[in-house]
Amino acid sequence: MKIAVIGVQGDVMEHIEALKRVFNRLKIDGEIIWARNKNELQKVDGIIIPGGESTTIGKLMSISGMDKVVIELAKQGTQILGTCAGAILLSNIKLINIKVDRNAYGRQKDSFEAQVTTPLGKMDGVFIRAPLIKEIQKEARVFAKHKKEIVGAEQDNILALTFHPELSGDAKIFQYFLRKIIDSKK
Ligand code: GLN
Repeated sequence: MKIAVIGVQGDVMEHIEALKRVFNRLKIDGEIIWARNKNELQKVDGIIIPGGESTTIGKLMSISGMDKVVIELAKQGTQILGTCAGAILLSNIKLINIKVDRNAYGRQKDSFEAQVTTPLGKMDGVFIRAPLIKEIQKEARVFAKHKKEIVGAEQDNILALTFHPELSGDAKIFQYFLRKIIDSKK
């Protein structure tokens, strides 16, 4: 199994480390790529767009043509996970029908950790200058909630989370992501 983490800006290494831990635990023989250009997205089974600065990541993805490749692969059914800035970008490139409010909780100092409810159970969510999902449209479904607010959405092969599962030490999201990849190949 081959997973690419879009590696132009943001917490790329944290995603790679989190994935490695899950590969080891599930004894999956997997490869994780720090993808800096579109060629590195060839023949991957899954793509992660990390947290960071969505404007910067978006610009760099567009300059390198990675955005078009991600859109194309998503349409072919490649599993995609976007966290925080990654969730904003998935909405911007219209891979998931959600409306997102950037920096919805305020400034950097308003970052926090809180419990999140998901179909995989409750988990710790790390919110860093996080966006909020204001609206879920068409095929998109609520995936995660914090209190009454929507902090995660899913639409088929696309999963968008406003928090950082790679920072909490809880591997449930990554296991779920890998499970979706395995199931989609059956
Ligand atoms: N505030 C950032 C943005 O709007 C997202 C923050 C993050 O990814 N942790 O792009």
